[in-house]
Amino acid sequence: MLIVQKYGGTSMGDCERIQNVANRVAQAKKQNHSLVVVVSAMSGKTDELIGYTKSFGTLPNTREVDMVLSSGERITSALLAIALEAMGFKAISLSGRMAGILTDSVHTKARIQSIDTQYIKSLLEQDYIVVVAGFQGVDQKGAVTTLGRGGSDLSAVAIAGALQADLCEIYTDVDGVYTTDPRIEKNAKKIQKISYDEMLELASMGAKVLLNRSVELAKKWNIPLVTRSSFSLEEGTIILNEEDIMEQAIVSGIALDKNQARVSMVDVVDRPGIAAEIFGELAQANINIDMIVQTIGRDGKTDLDFTIPQSEVEEAKMALKRFENEVGLIEFDCEIAKVSIVGVGMKSHSGVASRAFKTLANENINIMMISTSEIKVSMIIDIKYAELAVRALHRAYELDK
Ligand code: ADP
Ligand code: ASP
Ligand code: MG
Repeated sequence: MLIVQKYGGTSMGDCERIQNVANRVAQAKKQNHSLVVVVSAMSGKTDELIGYTKSFGTLPNTREVDMVLSSGERITSALLAIALEAMGFKAISLSGRMAGILTDSVHTKARIQSIDTQYIKSLLEQDYIVVVAGFQGVDQKGAVTTLGRGGSDLSAVAIAGALQADLCEIYTDVDGVYTTDPRIEKNAKKIQKISYDEMLELASMGAKVLLNRSVELAKKWNIPLVTRSSFSLEEGTIILNEEDIMEQAIVSGIALDKNQARVSMVDVVDRPGIAAEIFGELAQANINIDMIVQTIGRDGKTDLDFTIPQSEVEEAKMALKRFENEVGLIEFDCEIAKVSIVGVGMKSHSGVASRAFKTLANENINIMMISTSEIKVSMIIDIKYAELAVRALHRAYELDK
């Protein structure tokens, strides 16, 4: 089999752990599999590197930020190759560029455009274990790019897709996908099988065990995806098509995202085209908008609330400057959290959303914004109630049973 394995930051946390990863990779190699191993930087490394780039009193040029950030994964990929060679295996590390990963030029959140697998394939034919630095690629001009936080998952799935691998295994510090973050709710249960669509919603709503864009790609290319722990031999969670799951729970999981910010634009001049201009300007700045709520207009004015990633607040402030004359007040609130319930069963059951609202009401938690999709209900609440809300909802849908 051709297997792509990905090891996350905790799994690659220090040299002892890298040795543990090398042992696991060796196990798979001894079973005669062809192996591509994608790695993250040591846990905490990317945050540390981001910190350095902020030391000079100005918003840094994102091209330079990417040069700095991509170094974390280069270190771990080479260390793993060294460990494997020390054990007598043929192993070689590749940067994103060497692995043929071509992206657009949106630094710090680049999108993969294509992967030229020629070099990886020739190395596999020569029986190398190919270790690829995750989270990075290169643009048309040859500048190093990074794929956004958690991007090594995407590197792994994209490489698995391009190579038409038989399996993509994501090794992390939990032994699969749980009904909610096991660090928040100790009674969370491991899910054996989950559909791409539910996993995509959970990941998009904050369950960082998998990056949403990696799930999207796995679904598109039908890549068999498994998440499991690099620290145990437990079977993990299989992510697959909805049709391949026999029994569906109404609600499969609860996700929490504490990295969102709410933008409130009060007394916006209510004229045709204003929303197009505001969101056009934000799109131009590559800012990801999530929930949007516009209130009914009065006296020619309206209120517009929406959420963006906290990391994009400074860019959003700059982008919205030109609307100052048409808006009474623009406020940014980072003290919010988004709690979401996800489940394909919602399509066919009523009363699922109302139970969520009642549960939060019972805990005296005020809901500031709501948005829904066919298989999800998301609520914005005060960040100080985030964990309380997750636990209460987990109980309300009997996910601990
Ligand atoms: P890695 O560094 O291996 O990519 P991450 O920290 O990105 O690992 O993701 C793993 C973490 O995701 C877990 O430690 C866990 O706290 C968190 N997590 C959030 N939601 C879930 C969930 N529903 N199931 C499992 N883990 C979750
Ligand atoms: N090291 C990067 C991050 O911390 C990418 C990853 O771990 O997936 O976001
Ligand atoms: Mg991750």
